[in-house]
Amino acid sequence: MAKRIIRFKGRKSVSLEPETKSKTACTHSDEKITTKLKKTLFNNGADLVGIADLTGHVPYDLKKFNRGISIAIKLADNIINEAIHGPTKEYAQLYVDVNSKLDKLASFSSDILQKEGFSTIHIPASKIENTKKFLGKYPHKTVATLSGLGWIGRSALFISNKYGPRIRLVSVLTDAPLKPDAFSLRNKCNSCKACVINCPGKAIKGNKWVFKEEREKIFDAAACNSILVANKKLFGVKVCGICVAICPYR
Ligand code: SF4
Ligand code: SF4
Repeated sequence: MAKRIIRFKGRKSVSLEPETKSKTACTHSDEKITTKLKKTLFNNGADLVGIADLTGHVPYDLKKFNRGISIAIKLADNIINEAIHGPTKEYAQLYVDVNSKLDKLASFSSDILQKEGFSTIHIPASKIENTKKFLGKYPHKTVATLSGLGWIGRSALFISNKYGPRIRLVSVLTDAPLKPDAFSLRNKCNSCKACVINCPGKAIKGNKWVFKEEREKIFDAAACNSILVANKKLFGVKVCGICVAICPYR
């Protein structure tokens, strides 16, 4: 099949239906391409890779993309530990470097799938498209959650099962019939409120994340952004990192 590149303008709001497990049947060829893709990504520096069944979870203009690939790279513990009271130069540099590596892995995934004749769209690791709500084209956290890599904490951060919030994410949406991973929507914050108490912008409202609810219920993106903007003057990048460093999951 000929190589196809799809471009999209804008994004409608994403409606998420509660599910607990993907029920999609998988053929032998799904398994083969899924295994090949995951293996290649791990061999090239990914620390976590999951496949989401996005059927029913994408807006109309993205509806042909019924699979999402979630790719994570772990952030170095020694650098994150130092950011517990605020960002450092090393943290700012790590943030830039890891985003760049993730975008390369996403492009790499797209190349593999496009060569097989499938369409893909790369959601960059750090690119705001909706400047009012501080959102990208499609939420990395939705792809990661539906891929079974983890859950979303009170901080609105994605908390991976393996490394807690000490990761960065990138996503690729595709129509390739990849085999989806099982997922759980369980929130594991329990009684912890460490991120709520320590957030310098009072951006974390203290409510537990519930699948399908708007992010605004738990998180004030504008309040967080005001801290990030202030930090950009010092570090050249919009970073903070306190809610990442303080979370007991790691
Ligand atoms: S990044 Fe900083 S300001 Fe934003 S929510 Fe986390 S702790 Fe608060
Ligand atoms: S710091 Fe505590 S409340 Fe915040 S996301 Fe992590 S576990 Fe949840």
